[in-house]
Amino acid sequence: MGALNIAATWVGTRALGPGRRSVVWVQGCPFHCAGCMSPDWIPDVPARSVEPAALAAELLADPTIEGLTFSGGEPMHQAAGLTEVIRAARRIRDTTLVCFTGYRLERLRRRPPGPGVAELLAEVDVLIDGLYVAALDDSRGLRGSANQRVHHLSGRMAESGYDFTGRDRTAEIAADGHEALLIGVPPPALLTVFDAAVERIRQSHIGGRA
Ligand code: SF4
Repeated sequence: MGALNIAATWVGTRALGPGRRSVVWVQGCPFHCAGCMSPDWIPDVPARSVEPAALAAELLADPTIEGLTFSGGEPMHQAAGLTEVIRAARRIRDTTLVCFTGYRLERLRRRPPGPGVAELLAEVDVLIDGLYVAALDDSRGLRGSANQRVHHLSGRMAESGYDFTGRDRTAEIAADGHEALLIGVPPPALLTVFDAAVERIRQSHIGGRA
């Protein structure tokens, strides 16, 4: 199995699904949704290259992690590698899986966009599908806009009490050196504030080096 091309990872958040989770954001997405919260991760360019088993170990190094969330970028374009990640993770401990995709589930099943899609879908507990439509962003739930659907593919998290579609949104801001990461599905207003804050940090860093 080849290496994954990863935009970012985070170990330990409560902003992207039930319980304490680790997140993988893949690099590269064929869609260009207006208002995408991670435009830097749309280009299909080399980012961090990592082997699936090593990534799984990294994501579960914290023993309190209960689940993984795959986002991006477009996870279905790296489905084979991500399947290896969740399988390796589940060999370490029982781990739930939430996965975002810009594709509709029907399309993924009928005409998979790459290798490993059926295998990844077989591992996913909750799939959140569809493109982000800013005009339909109602600031509710884990999906970015009301057209996106929540599929309980395994049924495992259907009775968890976690409201994927109607809950108040939460987001976390993680700062690491000169980089800042916005974790979660934020209300649009928070995204604007975050982008402005990151720009100020960048400018002050540039000024500091001048
Ligand atoms: S599918 Fe997701 S990552 Fe891709 S452009 Fe749309 S919002 Fe951004």
